[in-house]
Amino acid sequence: MPLEQILTGISGYDPNADLELVRRAYDFASRAHEGQTRRSGDPYVTHPVSVAEIIAELKLDIASVCAGLLHDCVEDTTATVEQLTTLFGKEIAFLVDGVTKLGKLPWSTKEEQQAENFRKMLLAMARDIRVILVKLCDRLDNMRSLHHLPPEKQERIAAETMQIYAPLANRLGIAWIKVELEDLAFKYLQPGEYEQLAQEVQKTLAERNEYIETVEKLIAKEMHDHGVPCEVVGRAKHFWSIYQKMKKTGRTFEEIHDAIGFRVVTDNQMNCYQALGVAHQTWTPIPGRFKDYIALPKPNLYQSLHTAVIGPRGERIEVQIRTREMQAVAEHGIAAHWKYKEGKPVDSDKKFAWLRQLMEHQKELRDPTEFLESVKLDLFGDEGYVFTPRGDVKALPKGATPIDLAYAVHSTIGDHCSGARVNGMIVPLRYQLRNGDTVEIITNPNQKPNKDWLNLVKTARARTKIRYLLRKEQRERAIALGKDILDKGLRKKNLTLARSEKDLDHAARELRLGDSDELIIQVGYGKVTVQQVLEKLLPGDTKKADEPERKEKKTEGMLAQLIRKVTRRQSSSGILVAGDADILVRFARCCSPLPGDLVVGYISRGKGVTVHRRDCDKGLDLDPERRIDVSWDGHGKGSHEVAIQVLCADKPGLLATISQSFSDQGVNISQAHCRATENGRAVNTFHASVKDLDQLKGVIRALSRIKGVYSVDRVSAEAPS
Ligand code: MN
Repeated sequence: MPLEQILTGISGYDPNADLELVRRAYDFASRAHEGQTRRSGDPYVTHPVSVAEIIAELKLDIASVCAGLLHDCVEDTTATVEQLTTLFGKEIAFLVDGVTKLGKLPWSTKEEQQAENFRKMLLAMARDIRVILVKLCDRLDNMRSLHHLPPEKQERIAAETMQIYAPLANRLGIAWIKVELEDLAFKYLQPGEYEQLAQEVQKTLAERNEYIETVEKLIAKEMHDHGVPCEVVGRAKHFWSIYQKMKKTGRTFEEIHDAIGFRVVTDNQMNCYQALGVAHQTWTPIPGRFKDYIALPKPNLYQSLHTAVIGPRGERIEVQIRTREMQAVAEHGIAAHWKYKEGKPVDSDKKFAWLRQLMEHQKELRDPTEFLESVKLDLFGDEGYVFTPRGDVKALPKGATPIDLAYAVHSTIGDHCSGARVNGMIVPLRYQLRNGDTVEIITNPNQKPNKDWLNLVKTARARTKIRYLLRKEQRERAIALGKDILDKGLRKKNLTLARSEKDLDHAARELRLGDSDELIIQVGYGKVTVQQVLEKLLPGDTKKADEPERKEKKTEGMLAQLIRKVTRRQSSSGILVAGDADILVRFARCCSPLPGDLVVGYISRGKGVTVHRRDCDKGLDLDPERRIDVSWDGHGKGSHEVAIQVLCADKPGLLATISQSFSDQGVNISQAHCRATENGRAVNTFHASVKDLDQLKGVIRALSRIKGVYSVDRVSAEAPS
């Protein structure tokens, strides 16, 4: 009887457990699911019983075991949460309710919905981690019996398992569930590859077992000879990890020599290091493969020493060294920290800092897609460790930059992070931190986050803080621009912004915009036009002016109206400022932007907006407060002056060929400076007018093909050379 097995199991780890409660839960579930069968034909209740069995294997508390037995009652039978509360108490009813809700989240739908569901899952996890643990056990039993389901369902459930549940098990440190979920999912997602690998493993099984036994004995002998008490276990890695390794290294199964891992389990930490010494003394260690997760535990609390050595037959051997307690944590993760009092793991809040942090972010990020994007890395990415100059350790995801670290230390440090010293050397903000780097953040009170930082950071924390600040700044810029635009408009009617505040409040209400501040912002964003505001401020005045036009409009055909709409979006400059075509624009001489270039605008009071190329140094130096989004309106017209520098051999006739090449591309040269250098070369700078970036690229391509031309570069039109 499986129930009796579960009960025996529970009394093994929790002698005071109320086994009667478990019996009652079992009876209730059996009656509730009476008459229902699984796809396999077994009575339905065998599923919750199997789930409860897995929960007991994790040594979780009685409430979790009962929740496992009852987890499908609310979903699939007439039982209600209220009923469960009366019969089994609030705690168990809450867990069942949580698992039921999680089960209803459809993962493989639209990204947006997936994000929202993901957030709900994390919320459930933060409230009571047991909800997720029960859900994981439920998923494991479902995966074990997946062969009874139709193929479409198999694939969907396997994909969801690979994407969500296996990484989650990993994050919670429950290695054996992670491994089993991955192999089961692999089997259904890539049946061909799985089958082939399984056969290859099977073929070499006898040989492997013999090898494992030999090496186990060898390691154990060395350890014992050096006075390190331990057990040594060798084990083939799970299929999914071998397959990943084959894919990553492009090797075949026979060529993967470290598909077997050896584990040395000893009694205390000192002996772990002792064992490491023995291993390195006996066999040659492979550089770069040693990792000390004892001194620096992984965020999921995993601890162990990892190394790889050249083994007795000249092959690579991976060795993991740990204590018995570490072994328990490595297998059971969060569940190994369980104490049966408050219904949550000891110090789970403190130890699972990542969980608490995720919760903080979800408060700040209201857009679920943004939230998903930012936590996915935190949850499922690889980590490394860096040190602060004081020796504090910070765990950061792979590819993290000094900005991530700065925000991990404090948000003010993040906001003013201007660079970093890594292992004593100055590095730029885009530097990707490496495991073990010592990093000192350099701050500058004038530094501020900009949009590009979003491409540099990897942590949710940094991303959230930067977005928040950028939004705030964008709003401030919109206010500045809105005031400028409104003021100009008002002056034409002999009004000023300062004197019209009250009237603006009124106009804002009429336009349903709250107050004058909001109105100014909307003008700044180009969502409300000055004309709209004037109509509200001076109803009589503008009506008169508008009347003839309105009449005209009525007589216009649909097509004409459409054309008006389209042409109105065109600007004389070819640039839209915050979507608006009517704003005064000039092009910066330092970088001479062309239609097609990535551009950015800077508001200069009284002079409208100056447009720079996005990579222009001078632009980057300008006050980011005044930065504003600009774009080309897509009707490239007019011509733009650019400067092109051509380095070539100093030989007769070449200049003529070059200028011919310009004319071939339909481009006129307006100025040319030519200068011979000492080494028989010539530097020529041509100023020419081009339509857009494509035309410039055409010219550069043509020039580069000329024999005797060494290099062709677009240069600043401002600097004489
Ligand atoms: Mn279930």
